[in-house]
Amino acid sequence: MTASDPFGRYRALLVTRGLRVTPQRLLVVQTINEADHHLTAEEISTRIREHFPAIHQGTVYRTLESLREAGLISESHLGDRSAVYELIGTQTHHHLVCDHCGNITEIDDAPLERLRAELAAQNGFRARTEHIAIFGLCQHCATVLGHTSETALEADTL
Ligand SMILES: [Zn+2]
Ligand SMILES: [Zn+2]
Repeated sequence: MTASDPFGRYRALLVTRGLRVTPQRLLVVQTINEADHHLTAEEISTRIREHFPAIHQGTVYRTLESLREAGLISESHLGDRSAVYELIGTQTHHHLVCDHCGNITEIDDAPLERLRAELAAQNGFRARTEHIAIFGLCQHCATVLGHTSETALEADTL
């Protein structure tokens, strides 16, 4: 109602997407938004249930699903972990996930923006890349593993 309404901006987010405002939805959106890192469905449910034990885990999961279908949150898989959730449209970013050490780095949207433009121009394809994970080797692991294979190669040639 006023600026002191802690849910004001979350209400607005739901309304813009044509979603009915429910306490469960507000809590899920708030929990995702206030987290310092991406949370899994289980973590979101645990955080909400710490304060509101009457809200069942199944309700939280169904709420996540409806918010995802409405395009308000995105679901991504970062490595071996369960899917994590994030609000769409706050600040677009992506993740570089190291297969070797599991390190996750955040990058901005610029490289993906170029990819989307390219795909649109060449294939007429409108790629959906609101929040994606790119897998590979981080700089550190690439260096370490690179050294190892160079050494192995040298050993072979000797
Ligand atoms: Zn992210
Ligand atoms: Zn690594």
